[in-house]
Amino acid sequence: MASLKRWSTRHANGLEALYRRFEAGFVALNPLWRRFGFERAEGPVVAVEQAAKGLLFDCRMCGQCALSATGMTCSMVCPKNLRNGPCGGVRQDGHCEVDPDMVCVWTEAWTGAQTMRDGVARICEAQPPLDWRLAGRSSWLAVARRAAGTN
Ligand code: SF4
Repeated sequence: MASLKRWSTRHANGLEALYRRFEAGFVALNPLWRRFGFERAEGPVVAVEQAAKGLLFDCRMCGQCALSATGMTCSMVCPKNLRNGPCGGVRQDGHCEVDPDMVCVWTEAWTGAQTMRDGVARICEAQPPLDWRLAGRSSWLAVARRAAGTN
């Protein structure tokens, strides 16, 4: 799992480009999501999203995906769930102060961001506080809902 996560960070640029295409396709299916019902689609879409992003990013299904702003590295893997950069405890070797065996997710995020078009600018943007009521819900459907003007 850790090696796949690292692979995703190393290929952040390609994955982001792929994700942009996927997102456009997913949003283009809005007539279908509307007909089926966004709420009814939640269960099956969550299952697929969790499986795909779990494998590639160790996704924790926060419901407010920020991967494209964090070098395609999931910041929710941070033991402190920090979404706006590292704490002051990153070790000199770039590892986590809570889990010394783990590379700090923000060390990885910075590596990934540097490979991405706009990655460095995006990682410097402040992320809003996490809304825990959305945990477990689909970020993909949230994007589609926003495009459809239904939330
Ligand atoms: S930011 Fe949230 S939705 Fe995106 S990969 Fe991490 S836990 Fe999953």
